[in-house]
Amino acid sequence: MQEFEHLERPQVPALDEILGEPFNVLDDGFVRVVDYMGSDDSIVQAARVSYGKGTKKLRQDRGLIRYLLRHHHTTPLEMCEIKLHVRVPMDAWRQWIRHRTANVNEYSTRYSIAIDAVQRTLPGEWRMQATSNRQGSEGLAEEELGTHFTAQETELHELSRRVYIERIEAGVAREQARKDLPLATYTEAYWKIDLHNLLHFLYLRMESHAQYEIRAYAEVIGNEIVKRWCPVAWEAFMDYQFHGMELTSLDSRVIAAVAAGAHEKAIDIAIEEEILPPRGEKITRNMEREELEEKLRRLGMRIPWE
Ligand SMILES: Cc1cc2nc3c(=O)[nH]c(=O)nc-3n(C[C@H](O)[C@H](O)[C@H](O)COP(=O)(O)OP(=O)(O)OC[C@H]3O[C@@H](n4cnc5c(N)ncnc54)[C@H](O)[C@@H]3O)c2cc1C
Repeated sequence: MQEFEHLERPQVPALDEILGEPFNVLDDGFVRVVDYMGSDDSIVQAARVSYGKGTKKLRQDRGLIRYLLRHHHTTPLEMCEIKLHVRVPMDAWRQWIRHRTANVNEYSTRYSIAIDAVQRTLPGEWRMQATSNRQGSEGLAEEELGTHFTAQETELHELSRRVYIERIEAGVAREQARKDLPLATYTEAYWKIDLHNLLHFLYLRMESHAQYEIRAYAEVIGNEIVKRWCPVAWEAFMDYQFHGMELTSLDSRVIAAVAAGAHEKAIDIAIEEEILPPRGEKITRNMEREELEEKLRRLGMRIPWE
């Protein structure tokens, strides 16, 4: 009969230390770890089932995790799970809940009275609409305008709460009484996800294009929680994915030409691939070209058509 060794439950003392402790986010939100399963070791253990047992020196374990991340061999990362308790304004939660690969239980405002907390914006925090990116923001509103918006917001929040409580006290069903509460109202949820899908969430939501409010949560989850929980996988994720750079075949061809000093050739490629208009025509906006320009800047290379 096959013999099995006794197993110890994987534990991460650095994460155990902060279990249940809330990390504050925004003005009244938080994230706290409720429970977890697995660690960097669990990733290695799962990968070794795939690859067969090898030597278990620390350096090799680290190398294995880094290999997995580099090559998108992601199933070993799914062996690690984490359960968070989060308190988030409903507008950020609406973006958060789009990540379908988590298991969720949200506070019910059909069953209970809505949480009496709304995310407030200080006078110096009103962001202006970006002109270069339809989804984003850039710059801040003037102080005077910000003060006006904050005062108006307070009035609106107070009114909506008053109306809500009046409906509740008159016996209106909670499920209907809530309909005019603002999206700034905080909600709470238990959110459980595996490490692979959590890193995908963090890749999208820690990124500079993600909205500030959800980014604030993602940064806390990444830098305060995942970094403690699976430090080797976190480091590999930062190196290979978050701070990495994806090159399309067009990018590679243009970059190779620029590196060789063949700037006219780089321009020819860009024209041929229609990210740049023919010579002599006005250069109009093109998202793919702008993304390539950003990559050239990061590489410290000249943009040949500028
Ligand atoms: C900056 C930004 C802007 C955005 N703007 C918009 C917007 O304007 N409008 C909008 O509606 N959404 C928008 N989103 C949401 C976005 O389209 C995704 O819905 C969200 O980021 C969740 O990503 P996901 O589906 O990859 O994650 P998850 O749901 O966690 O899924 C992870 C992965 O699992 C796989 N998967 C999960 N479910 C399925 C399925 N049913 N079928 C096939 N594969 C599946 C996919 O490979 C997926 O990438 C935006 C997101 C970001 C980050």
